[in-house]
Amino acid sequence: MNRDLEATLRYCRDLFSPPAIALRIIEMARNPETDLAVIARTVSLDPALSQRLLRVSNSSLYAGRRKVETLNQAMTLLGLNATMTLALGFSLARDMRDSAGERAALWCRSVLGSLAARLLGVHVRIDRLEELMLAGLLQDIGAMALLKAIPERYAPLRARAPDNTALLALEREAFGCDHAEVGAWLARQWELPQYLQDAIAASEDPSAEDPFAACVIASGAIAELWLDRAGGASEARARALVQALPLHEGTTLDTVLAEMHASLPEISTLFETQIPHADHLDGLIAEARELLVMRNLRMIQSAAASRRDADKAAEHIRRLAEQARRDPLTGVYNRLEMDEALEREFALALELGQPLSVAFIDLDEFKRINDEHGHLVGDQVLRQFATSLQEMLRANDIVARYGGEEFLVVLGNSGQAAATMILQRILEQVRRLPMATVDDRPLYVTFSAGIATHDADTRFPDAGSILRAADEALYGAKRDGRNRVGRRPS
Ligand code: GH3
Ligand code: MG
Ligand code: MG
Repeated sequence: MNRDLEATLRYCRDLFSPPAIALRIIEMARNPETDLAVIARTVSLDPALSQRLLRVSNSSLYAGRRKVETLNQAMTLLGLNATMTLALGFSLARDMRDSAGERAALWCRSVLGSLAARLLGVHVRIDRLEELMLAGLLQDIGAMALLKAIPERYAPLRARAPDNTALLALEREAFGCDHAEVGAWLARQWELPQYLQDAIAASEDPSAEDPFAACVIASGAIAELWLDRAGGASEARARALVQALPLHEGTTLDTVLAEMHASLPEISTLFETQIPHADHLDGLIAEARELLVMRNLRMIQSAAASRRDADKAAEHIRRLAEQARRDPLTGVYNRLEMDEALEREFALALELGQPLSVAFIDLDEFKRINDEHGHLVGDQVLRQFATSLQEMLRANDIVARYGGEEFLVVLGNSGQAAATMILQRILEQVRRLPMATVDDRPLYVTFSAGIATHDADTRFPDAGSILRAADEALYGAKRDGRNRVGRRPS
């Protein structure tokens, strides 16, 4: 940069005293040890800054569902990097805000640039949105510096330039460099993070290819368009820069303008700045808003449709999975599911130190029912028996069809005496319950059951051995004459 200009800028004391808090934040950003607690301590010393962070985290930019009430909540929501970036932006913005003439216009352009950069970042899917916002805000600090240091030379030059391109040419002619260069130099002096130095340096270079830099450049052009009543050339330039970005399908300059229009009140409050409405863009914005509404509608519709499909598929899968667990004839659990359930119950009993009882149930002389009344009646009996069995037990007892006319019952937290009583009671009920009607006559069945219990006295090494013991006990009950509940002889 031109030596004379540099000397002049260095001499301007204002430029070399960014707010103390901004300096602290810059320093913290450089320190890898910095965590949210450290930032929180610094920020909480500055009520205005805390207020801004709270406000921004409650704004639609972060659109949380819950209202953020405290600085800590705000910082947790934003995260370390976003908190530091926003805090830096707000603390620098405090000094940049100006209500006088050309400086006020420039400040407006910066706020608009910041908003535009963020919105573009969303459409380009850049996740460093706060950094983009800050780069958008600071892209013209070079011009700010010139206005502060040499207002008598720079202000008329700005007034003379019909647009940004002309301004850059005039700057180069007058100072041998443009405001982007001045800004980058200043960012270096302030020791701003490197990405900011780079973004500011590239902020007037339309050939930049990096999407981050390209968003900042386009954001400047959009801000310019917003403030430029003449429209025309600045619209063409903004449109070209936006179109060159790798945007989501369907996003155009008009979309971004409509979104800016919607965020404007919030951004104005956030930066305590009155941003003028862009009457000259009203037509574009109105049209884009309709398109946006339609696009949102379509997105909502297709999201709803795909949610319905997903629900249906999930329901189908759930039903298939459930079917795989159940016996198709009786609807109680099948053997596969029973094996798993028994393993689970056994592990649980061991863990809780509770007894566990297993009962094998086999219908007596079932073959005869089939032989005398046919298989369909046999099926009906099996169905009715399974349903009744389930109804007679507690909800968390497990009933499964083990095969043929054999069923298994697992009774959690039940000792031998309790299990015997339960099976005895069920047998008495079953004896009196018609399982089918044949020729208007009720059909009754009995069963034999064998119980095995894992408890403090009788300990089984695994679920399989309880099952075998119950089977042995069943065999004993059959041998002893059927229609009874047996226990494994110990
Ligand atoms: P026991 O008192 O000794 O148990 O005599 P049982 O006749 O009940 O025993 P067995 O094992 O000799 O016969 C069982 C019968 O159960 C034979 C088979 O045809 C019948 N069975 C197995 N599965 C089904 C089924 O799904 N439906 C019908 N209807 N019958 C079945
Ligand atoms: Mg049988
Ligand atoms: Mg049998």
